Amino acid sequence: MHTLAIIKPDAVGGGKTGKILAHLEEAGFVIRAAKLMRLSQAEAEAFYEVHRERPFYRSLVAFMTSGPCLPMILERDDAVNHLRTVIGATDPAEAAEGTVRRLHAENKERNAIHASDSPENAQREVAFFFPESDVRRLWGATVR
Ligand code: GDP
Repeated sequence: MHTLAIIKPDAVGGGKTGKILAHLEEAGFVIRAAKLMRLSQAEAEAFYEVHRERPFYRSLVAFMTSGPCLPMILERDDAVNHLRTVIGATDPAEAAEGTVRRLHAENKERNAIHASDSPENAQREVAFFFPESDVRRLWGATVR
């Protein structure tokens, strides 16, 4: 089973990419695809469309377009639930000890990593960043 993670611009810019990738691999995830990229305004707005009416939407889009980020497809059993546990609560002050956000996030917005919150969203978010043909080229068969 697969899920989508994004190492966010605060963590990429802060030199935490390697530590976070190691954390995810040690938690049993296989990295099936990864792409260092800078989101355009339109991409960030579309990705976070569900939050359009929230007060933090403009700020979130500005943050997510502020520098490179690293979207990736991660695989393991029960990937969506496991990854949500491994990253911790949205606000690092509330995240459990040893979680990615507790260890690496700055605050509730600049919180180091995104993870899909349901299997349906994982499918949508994987497709948002990774055309099936790209994934097939990497592994010889689709992982979606
Ligand atoms: P997630 O699923 O834990 O990432 O949290 P949400 O889906 O609720 O929010 C999406 C992203 O918006 C979070 O990861 C944060 O980067 C940002 N965010 C969420 N809540 C707040 C908030 O109250 N203030 C600000 N500035 N950003 C927030």
